[in-house]
Amino acid sequence: MKSCNGFPEAVAIILCAGSGERTNLGYNKILYHMGKTPLLELTLGAFSRSAVSRTVLVINERDETQIREIADKFANVTIAYGGDARTDSVRNGLKAAADCGIAVIHDGARPFVSPALINATIESAAKFGSGIAAVPATDTVKECEANVITRGLDRSKLMCMQTPQSFDYKAICAAYDSAQGSFTDDAAVWTNAGNIARIVAGEYENVKVTTPADLFRGAPARSKIGLGFDVHKLVPDRKLVLGGVTVPHCKGLLGHSDADALAHAITDSILSAAGLPDIGVLFPDTDPSTEGISSMVFLKDAVRRITELGYIIGNISAVIMAQKPKLAPHIEAMRQTLAEAANIRISQINVSATTTETLGITGEEKGIAASATCLLFY
Ligand code: MG
Repeated sequence: MKSCNGFPEAVAIILCAGSGERTNLGYNKILYHMGKTPLLELTLGAFSRSAVSRTVLVINERDETQIREIADKFANVTIAYGGDARTDSVRNGLKAAADCGIAVIHDGARPFVSPALINATIESAAKFGSGIAAVPATDTVKECEANVITRGLDRSKLMCMQTPQSFDYKAICAAYDSAQGSFTDDAAVWTNAGNIARIVAGEYENVKVTTPADLFRGAPARSKIGLGFDVHKLVPDRKLVLGGVTVPHCKGLLGHSDADALAHAITDSILSAAGLPDIGVLFPDTDPSTEGISSMVFLKDAVRRITELGYIIGNISAVIMAQKPKLAPHIEAMRQTLAEAANIRISQINVSATTTETLGITGEEKGIAASATCLLFY
């Protein structure tokens, strides 16, 4: 058995066999996309940055092709098939996770889980045998029958269970071996076998996607906005490139690269949202390898950097400030080119153009400026 940071090896068992009936999507909700990213990819991304060394996805055969496509983007992910009930699915997952120290059981439909929370449950399981993510109840909860309240419950003692729920592997296997009937979470199976379940402080953003409204409930709390601005000088005998599109004009923008002010503003907005250094630091104009280069290279590199950090793009909104030429006929091509480079859908990026009424640098046609904002989810 391997170990990690002094802990026994932790293996994730991610339950993905749901049908998505309650979301009314008509397909498994873990395959729902936020932008171009399926929810399952967000979940796997968080686990790939945690202390788990392997992951078992428990799936429905019906979704196998799509799930394998997502799983292939990550290392050490294997697949097991789900059973009729949740308990059967977990049993199959535990079997596939064979010979590890800690089982980290998680709902695939909790895509906003953080690596820190995953690690906290592992640490608790290593010390105490179990680590259950849970948050204090914020709503008042009552027992009801036929629309009548039958019993009030003391909210100060109520906790809402989340996942991950991590356990000593051998002990949770034994608990599942002796479990009969149905259980809605693993803590219930664990305590049913006479074990003590330890709570770890969960996260309110770690929502379970059950209804369409939930799909974005966790997202706002896990978002960051970035702003970018750029201006380049207009000179004769240069191509005018904006948003990766060559726009016919008697002048072009001066700069070390293709001087695409729009692409630069957008790239800076992405980098800024993620807290990364700006384009001038990452791609200095003293670097001969970027001379005359297409700025789409910078944009693609910024997107690669933020993706590695676990961010995905929510949307980008940009404005070009130019007195001339007329840009409206080129906006769609710019959106298309930029969306392709940033690996997002065209609906996630908008570009507008304005003159500055003959005023200032852009109004006097001395230069073209661009500004952009970018929303990132993580
Ligand atoms: Mg620039």
